[in-house]
Amino acid sequence: MGTENLILLLIEAGFYFVFMVGLLHLRHQLGIGMFIAALGVMHFLETYLAAVFYIELPFGVISPGSSVLFSGKLMMILLLYVKEDASVVRAPIYGLLAGNFLTVGLGFFLRHHQTIGVVPGRIADLAFIDEMGWLMLWGTTLLYLDSLAIILLYERLGRVFKKSTALRFFVSGVAVLTFDQIGFFAALHFLNGAPTEVFWGGWIAKMLAASAYAVLITVYLHYSRISAIPVSPRPISDIFADLTFRERYEDLLDRSGRDALTGVYDRSRLEYEAPRMLSAMMAAGKPLALMIIDADHFKDVNDRFGHLAGDGVLKETAASLQRALRASDRLFRFGGEEFVVICEDIAPAAGTERAEMLRRTVEAEIRRPDGVPMTVSIGVANSYSDGTTLNALLSAADARLYAAKNAGRNRVISS
Ligand code: GH3
Ligand code: MG
Ligand code: MG
Repeated sequence: MGTENLILLLIEAGFYFVFMVGLLHLRHQLGIGMFIAALGVMHFLETYLAAVFYIELPFGVISPGSSVLFSGKLMMILLLYVKEDASVVRAPIYGLLAGNFLTVGLGFFLRHHQTIGVVPGRIADLAFIDEMGWLMLWGTTLLYLDSLAIILLYERLGRVFKKSTALRFFVSGVAVLTFDQIGFFAALHFLNGAPTEVFWGGWIAKMLAASAYAVLITVYLHYSRISAIPVSPRPISDIFADLTFRERYEDLLDRSGRDALTGVYDRSRLEYEAPRMLSAMMAAGKPLALMIIDADHFKDVNDRFGHLAGDGVLKETAASLQRALRASDRLFRFGGEEFVVICEDIAPAAGTERAEMLRRTVEAEIRRPDGVPMTVSIGVANSYSDGTTLNALLSAADARLYAAKNAGRNRVISS
């Protein structure tokens, strides 16, 4: 009897998984809405089952609603996040929340109807609609917290178990479903007087569900990865294949756009990042400073000590600048011996001061091969007074750099 129920439950979990993952997998052909709508529709059955539909298993009494359907939904949400990103996964989470508020809201009005029995032996059970409404609302509020928690946890665990997606899904599932079981049981107990054994049975079932789904998802991710790239299967050691898009994107971004000699960001990266930094600062109503830093008489260094020695000095200069900057400042190699620095949230006077600090740092730290201090000239612009586009700031800073060179080099000009 118990074993028969367990087998049925596993079949249900398998059926649910294959169906939902099928919709998710075909999202580019079918549209993501299909997966999300299916997830939403399952919510009612899931809550209904969790409220009243219980079965006996070898380890206790459980509901397929919370074990198969609810745990499954949470794992689907995490899988959706892994396949897409946070902006996509937001839709079903808020959608479920909104739909359940609507259910409860409509329940208030429906209660005021005088209903008539048209089907013999059946009368509308408004108390049931009410109860379901509140339970669904509570379940979805929990789901909202669960979803945030499982995604955050999954991200965190990425640092611990980089190579094991299964472990990441399993541990996040176990932790969050335990939290959820406590929350959902509290409501069941309060509304329906569910006994304590329901808590433990449900908890064990959710842990089983977390394990089963973690394994199924890992198999799916593995399969979908190799089937997506049939010609050149990636080596097992390529851990990035298992990371989320956002992680992969950030990693790619971090590795690309670096200058080969100095290791600082390059000009393409400046053109990508500067407009974003500018619009963020504009939106926040804060100023942004841009400096162009040019090494003085650098041609001399090359001419007298050779290009390789020049390279070494450039590398050290970049490192020295980087060390002197705040973590939120950005350093780019703009051209040969020219660098651009962008500082967010910095007023004109403070921008000039930071440039002056950079100038002094280079003069104090960097020596040419003959021991003569290396110096730089800096032109500074600020979005507060010189325009709010990258080009406007670059040309203002460039004109000032030119003026600094003319005025004798090794100096900062900012207006
Ligand atoms: P100033 O800026 O003070 O007017 O004089 P400068 O000698 O630095 O001026 P200019 O801009 O004419 O020369 C820059 C020199 O930087 C020319 C070029 O050979 C050298 N340079 C550019 N990129 C590199 C590089 O990657 N490695 C080395 N070693 N030298 C470089
Ligand atoms: Mg120069
Ligand atoms: Mg130059």
